[in-house]
Amino acid sequence: MGAMGGVGASGLLIEDGNDRVVLDYGTKVREVPPKFPLPVERPKAVLLSHAHLDHSGGIPLLVKKYSTPIYALDVTKELTELLLDDSIKVSREEGIELPFNEFDVRQTMKNFVLVKYRVPFKIGNFRITYFDAGHIPGSAMIFVENDKTNVLYTGDFNDINTRLLEKCEEDLPRVKNLIIESTYSDREHPDRKKEERELVEMIEDTISNNSPAIVAVFAVGRAQEILLILSKYGISYPLFMDGMAKKATTIINKYRKYLREPNDLDNALRFVTYVEGRMRRKLVKESACIITTSGMLNGGPVVKYLRKLCKNERASLILTGWQIEGTPGKILLETGRFIYENIDLEVKMRIKRFDFSAHAGRKSLFKFIKKINPERVFCIHGDHTEEFAEELKREGFDAVAPIANNRVFELQKN
Ligand SMILES: [Zn+2]
Ligand SMILES: [Zn+2]
Repeated sequence: MGAMGGVGASGLLIEDGNDRVVLDYGTKVREVPPKFPLPVERPKAVLLSHAHLDHSGGIPLLVKKYSTPIYALDVTKELTELLLDDSIKVSREEGIELPFNEFDVRQTMKNFVLVKYRVPFKIGNFRITYFDAGHIPGSAMIFVENDKTNVLYTGDFNDINTRLLEKCEEDLPRVKNLIIESTYSDREHPDRKKEERELVEMIEDTISNNSPAIVAVFAVGRAQEILLILSKYGISYPLFMDGMAKKATTIINKYRKYLREPNDLDNALRFVTYVEGRMRRKLVKESACIITTSGMLNGGPVVKYLRKLCKNERASLILTGWQIEGTPGKILLETGRFIYENIDLEVKMRIKRFDFSAHAGRKSLFKFIKKINPERVFCIHGDHTEEFAEELKREGFDAVAPIANNRVFELQKN
């Protein structure tokens, strides 16, 4: 129902007789008008893989219409609430009215049913198990089975350890049908350690130049990963955190049982000051590192910092994630100008983008599929799913990339 042949507004329906469950129901972040998966007949449940809006952003629509229960981990519930509320706020600021409001988000929260990794539960005749996906705290691969067949939906996953999280679960059941994300099917990640070293060097360099280093992050996952990297290399400079990253970090630290080293984040936070309103004006004149949202420069305090610092050649702007086509971050990398709403500025700061992705890279995707060895593979959630499926076919897999929504497939049966 969504995220076919692209990323954003993920949505799948698994159906057998009266049993119907929806896997994720997201939104296309910042699309005008907002985009959601196809409407669906009353499902018995939403199985939510993780909190990111491209997977969760449309759930209030289902709750409004059917009061559908949502199955997810505890941390996913809190992070989803944070992101849904923010999506309403940001949309409003941009003059867009979403088809749900704060009240609907509160109702949505009441409908969450908390699940645990590796503890199966039943919905109708479906038996469902969540496995750790290693992508963000609470992220899950979802395994759905009945007496006829089974399917594993990877959600977004990562098969390498990061500073924040352990890699995804490797001890998986025998999978007949695999639905796999393909975000990085066409490219490899650079060496992570090298990225880490260069990030730290750039920050320390900027600070020794008596200037601020602005680190733009996604609130959930990336902000905490960056903080842990800095902490590993030793924080010898004033360190601040701003924007929604603060609340996300507080939530994630509360659920430290999911972290690779449960106490590391809490220890690192002792070096961090959360920025409150007025501090910003002073901060831009200091030699300090400021971790702030949003990761693609479309909103959040990073906009305020950029306005103040764009002419400062000694200050730096560090991007820590993929920049989607058309976002201010991508445009800045291509043109050297920061263009957002009615702002258009030439940016003289030092700018660099790093790759701290939380998605499996190209080689990992192939390795994962070969290890699972499913009878059928569906490639979704990527810009090159068709090429990916073709490559898999050449390797002998029954692979398909549904690139249009509203298509129905039979699963391979037992
Ligand atoms: Zn995600
Ligand atoms: Zn995603």
